[in-house]
Amino acid sequence: MSVADYEPVIGLEVHCQLETASKMFSACPVGLLAPPNTLVDAYTLGLPGTLPVPNARAVHHGIALALACGCQLHERSRFARKHYFYPDLPKGYQITQAHEPYATGGSLEVPGFRDAEGRPKRVPLVRIHFEEDAGKNVHVPGEDHSLIDYGRAGAPLLEIVSEPTIGSPEEAAAYLRELRTLVRTLGISQANMEEGTLRCDANVSVRRRGSTALGVRCEIKNLNSFRFLAQAIAAEIRRQIDLLEQGQVIESVTLSYDVERDRTRVMRSKEDAADYRYLPEPDLPPLWISSEWIDRVRSELPPLPAARRAGYLAQGISEDDAVLLASEPALGDYLDRTLAAGAPAKKASNWLTVELLGKLNADGIGIERSPVTPEALAELIAMVEADEVSGRAAKAIFASLYGELRESEGSTPPLTPRTIAERDGHRQVSDAGVLEAAVREVLAGHPEQVQQFRAGKTKVRGFFVGQVMKKTRGQANPQVLGELLDRLLGEDD
Ligand code: ADP
Ligand code: MG
Repeated sequence: MSVADYEPVIGLEVHCQLETASKMFSACPVGLLAPPNTLVDAYTLGLPGTLPVPNARAVHHGIALALACGCQLHERSRFARKHYFYPDLPKGYQITQAHEPYATGGSLEVPGFRDAEGRPKRVPLVRIHFEEDAGKNVHVPGEDHSLIDYGRAGAPLLEIVSEPTIGSPEEAAAYLRELRTLVRTLGISQANMEEGTLRCDANVSVRRRGSTALGVRCEIKNLNSFRFLAQAIAAEIRRQIDLLEQGQVIESVTLSYDVERDRTRVMRSKEDAADYRYLPEPDLPPLWISSEWIDRVRSELPPLPAARRAGYLAQGISEDDAVLLASEPALGDYLDRTLAAGAPAKKASNWLTVELLGKLNADGIGIERSPVTPEALAELIAMVEADEVSGRAAKAIFASLYGELRESEGSTPPLTPRTIAERDGHRQVSDAGVLEAAVREVLAGHPEQVQQFRAGKTKVRGFFVGQVMKKTRGQANPQVLGELLDRLLGEDD
C-alpha cells in the first residue's frame, strides 16, 4: 500500500488561559509579566487549611465560549481532583472537571475547509471544562538544578476537547486559529501561543482510507505554534504510516516534537501513564449555572466570527477576505463601521485589506489605531463611486490622508477625503460642457495632428488625451473625455 491509501484522523485538546483578575480558586492575582513567584498566596502554594472558591468571572467566560460553540450547558457540574506528583504542582493534585464537565457537545466551524457534502466544515466538540493551571518548571541550560515559578499555578483554564474528526495537519491549524479568533472575539483570553495562554496537544491516528473504525491514537504534547502543530502532526502521520507499512502495530504513546529533526519522539507509553485517581473534590460543592446567568451572558455576546464571515460572503466579499476580516474583532468592527457609513461591501473590503492594511502593516500599527477612520474611508469610496475622483486620484488622496493624519495625530482643520481632493485639485471633471471647451481648444491648437488623425493615423488620439489631461491638470474623467474626443474628431470642421 502507499501513503495515499491511508487517512489521518486528528483530535485536539486545547488549553486556554482565561482573562481574569484572580486565579481559578483564590483571590491571588494572575499576570503574565510578574517576576517569578510573586503572584502566590497560601492557596497557590498548597498550604494546609486553604479552601478553594470558584472564580465567577472565569465561569462567566466559560459560559460565553460554550454558548458561542453551541454546546449543551449543564446546570450542575462537578470539580474533581486529578492526582499526580510534579514539582510545579504543590498540592499534589490539580482541580479539574472530569466526569461531569459544565459543557458538552457543540462544534467549531473551520474556515476554508468543507465537509464531505461541500458545506463549511464543523468540528464537533466532546466537551469544555474548567481547571486550574500548574506552575512552571524552568530548566536552566548547563545547571544541575531546575527552577520553579508558582506564579502560574492556579491560573484559570478552559480545556476544549474536539472529537476525532479533523482530517489534515492544515485543518488542525485552521481549527486552532479559529478557536483563538473566537476566544479573542469573546474577550475571554489573550490566547497567545508564544506566551502560553493558548496551548495544544494533538491526538493522531491513521486508518485505511474508506474505513470507519478509528486507528490507535498517539498524543503529541505541548505544541506551541501553529506551524509546529501542523509540522508535528504531519511528521506523526508519516511515522505511523511507516510502521504500518513495515507490518508493525501502532502502540499508544505520548510524544514530543523534535523541531530540528522534524520528527516526533516517544516520551512515554500510555501503559506507564499515571493513574490520576480522580475523585470528587471534597472542598467544593457542585457548580450551579442558572439559566438566568446563561441568558445574561448570551445577551452580551459580541458578533461571532462564523456569523460575520457568513454575512460578508453573502455581501459578495471573497472568502479569503471574509476569513481575514473576521479573524480579529477590531478588523470586523472596522469593516462593519465602514459598511454602516454606506460603503459597498466589496469595495470596502478591497480598500481595507489592500490599501489600509498594507500601510498599517508596513508601519506596525494595529487597526484600532488607524489614522483613517471607517467613516473617512467610506467617504472616499463614495467619491469614487460618484465619479467625483478617479480611482488613481483616490489612491493619492488616501495616501495624503493617511500620511498627514498620522503625522499630525488628528489635524485641525479636520482633514477629510473631500478637503484633500479640493486642496490638491484631485476632483475629476465629468461635466461634458466644461470638458468640451478644453477638447475644442486642444483640437484647434493642433490642426496638423487633427489632419493626421483624419487621414487614418488613429494613434494621435492618445496625444489629444494627454493634452486635455495636461490642460485639466489630470482631472478630466477619462470616459467622458474619450466620448467627447470621438464625437468632436468625427465632426467635419
Ligand atoms: P485523554 O486525556 O486521555 O487524552 P481526552 O478525552 O481528554 O483523553 O482526549 C482525547 C482526545 O483524543 C480527543 O481530542 C479525541 O478527539 C482524540 N482522539 C480519541 N481517539 C482518537 C483517535 N483514534 N485518533 C485521533 N484522535 C483521537
Ligand atoms: Mg489527552
